Amino acid sequence: MWTLVVNCGSSSLKFALLDPSSGEVPLSGLAERLGSDLASVRVDRGGERVSVPLPGGSYPEAFGVLLAELDALGLRSEVGAVGHRVVHGGERFSAPALVTPEVLDAIRACVPLAPLHNPANLAGIEAAQEAFPGLPHVAVFDTAFHQTMPEVAYRYAVPEEWYTQHGVRRYGFHGTSHAYVAGEAARMLGRDFPDLNLVTAHLGNGCSVTAVQGGRSVDTSMGLTPLEGVVMGTRSGDVDPGLHDYLARQAGLSLTQITATLNRESGLLGLSGLTNDMRELEEAAARGHEGARLAVEIFVYRLAKSVAGMAVALGRLDGLVFTGGIGENSATVRGATLARLGLLGFKVDEAANARAVRGRAGIITTPDSVPALVVNTNEELMIARETQSVVAGEL
Ligand code: ADP
Repeated sequence: MWTLVVNCGSSSLKFALLDPSSGEVPLSGLAERLGSDLASVRVDRGGERVSVPLPGGSYPEAFGVLLAELDALGLRSEVGAVGHRVVHGGERFSAPALVTPEVLDAIRACVPLAPLHNPANLAGIEAAQEAFPGLPHVAVFDTAFHQTMPEVAYRYAVPEEWYTQHGVRRYGFHGTSHAYVAGEAARMLGRDFPDLNLVTAHLGNGCSVTAVQGGRSVDTSMGLTPLEGVVMGTRSGDVDPGLHDYLARQAGLSLTQITATLNRESGLLGLSGLTNDMRELEEAAARGHEGARLAVEIFVYRLAKSVAGMAVALGRLDGLVFTGGIGENSATVRGATLARLGLLGFKVDEAANARAVRGRAGIITTPDSVPALVVNTNEELMIARETQSVVAGEL
């Protein structure tokens, strides 16, 4: 049976049809600019790519294109379940859940925690339920993997009633990716999960670092929102919480303006004044662009500090995993990060590090080093597997 994996953003819909066992993907696609005259769906039929214009189209029309593609492949009746990525599951969800009216209400109750993401995820689930009325739908949460964090890691040092009344605590994100790459790393290291202590660094446009003990998240760098932690493409990561009040007074900015700037105009983009794209920054730095050099250096420094902090959560470190677009491709970032982490026992193997790009996974440290590895993440496959497990009643 095939599993359809769906990821809805505010104006986008990403989908992939997968075999959860083999990982085969005969159909995938991305609908963008939904709700506008420029809306379109790019479809990949297992290598053959087409673009379908969809002016004014929204989720239901995008699902219409998907259904027509499934019919053309003769696969519509072969889809066994639909898995949905949902960003915030609050404290309610520590595992994927079969979508029921009660589960939809609980996802709705988490909207204040993720006001941009959860409404889009909900709208996507509802449109998918109409497109695939007879199938089980499963919600897979970005936060769920981190619900195993102990209180010492998830509480902020703020008044208790902020936590009890308003849910102010650290939740963490990218859980599907961290869980997947930790499992792959254990396999690559030939180690059993129960006694393996890993730090996983998911470095894409958003970036987060997680301490994984025996397959369970025990700390992570993102918090109440995905803004906390390491430097990201356009997000600042950690700043002094006093910054908001200071800038409001000094620059006359509103809280909304400051938050938007910290999310969209900070990080690598803000530091370099050039771009949020790590590959372009590395090229610009090599040409002598000072802002690009500084952006990469601060990114690496803060990443290394975060990894070292996660080692405290673990007590003993058995491996460091790099994943995401930057983690899987930037030998420069990996090498510089490991160079700063010598005190934890890392020694980079320059040749292995240089080889591990464009989908080539592997260990990038010397035999006498604590291992660091490059692992290619696959969130769709993880969502498909979890969906399958829920439908089979295993989760
Ligand atoms: P998203 O979080 O949107 O899924 P990705 O995981 O695709 O993002 O990561 C995007 C980041 O990966 C960008 O900063 C991009 O520049 C970086 N990246 C991709 N390829 C390379 C490369 N060859 N060298 C350095 N950075 C790269």
